[in-house]
Amino acid sequence: NVLMQLEKISKTYIMGEVTVEALKETSLDIFQGELLVILGPSGSGKSTMLNIMGGMDTTSSGRVIFGDEDLSRAGDSQLTRYRRNEVGFVFQFYNLIADLTARENVELAANLVENPLSTEEVLMEVGLESRMDHFPSQLSGGEQQRVSIARAAVKNPRLLLCDEPTGALDYQTGKLILGLLAKINRERGSTVVIVTHNTSIGEMANRVVRMRSGEITEIIENETTVSPE
Ligand code: ADP
Ligand code: ADP
Repeated sequence: NVLMQLEKISKTYIMGEVTVEALKETSLDIFQGELLVILGPSGSGKSTMLNIMGGMDTTSSGRVIFGDEDLSRAGDSQLTRYRRNEVGFVFQFYNLIADLTARENVELAANLVENPLSTEEVLMEVGLESRMDHFPSQLSGGEQQRVSIARAAVKNPRLLLCDEPTGALDYQTGKLILGLLAKINRERGSTVVIVTHNTSIGEMANRVVRMRSGEITEIIENETTVSPE
């Protein structure tokens, strides 16, 4: 069951004399309920691809299909609705609002969608039951990332996109964070796509995609995890 299709998507940045082909006619199907990991050296196009999946960036050519929507032909209001209702984002540097508590940060996201999960329940799921009324500055990096995961998960999104979610954390804390994302994938059924260098996610992933210079060079299916079919 395919959730999203990227069909020969290209992205070209033109800066004066310099042209960068961030993606070169790259195609990928994303399956409903899978946990997909994207690896590749810096500059290989991982973030560009993730941003296109999330409706945060547009393609230069190619098609982006989500269910029966063609996002590559969507206008701003359709893209905003898509981002708001269907997609949760987790970033490297958390992007929490500094003068809101953990609970308020999550509540703000919950209020954007029609059928959010319970804020407290989601904060408990990520292990923050005793930190709900703390401000970001009172939390460790790992705890702040848990808040940001709760903020994404409370929308119960069909697609959860994570760009280097462990990039600012030590290896062990990162491993716990990836474990939480895998748990959301398993228990809530969200399709999860993670760009990461943390190799501990390898065994939890259904598929690992390797990119280089704007192209997918390899897709490895993990036979030890449950098939997304
Ligand atoms: P991992 O840490 O899981 O091995 P990386 O994200 O470091 O994955 O690398 C992804 C892929 O890119 C690997 O196949 C690696 O060999 C290759 N790679 C890493 N760094 C470079 C580089 N500077 N130039 C070319 N290929 C690279
Ligand atoms: P990765 O996430 O694998 O590090 P990116 O998708 O961020 O790679 O970048 C792919 C290529 O596109 C890089 O050469 C990068 O410099 C370029 N690029 C990304 N965003 C922009 C931008 N807004 N303007 C110009 N070039 C960009």
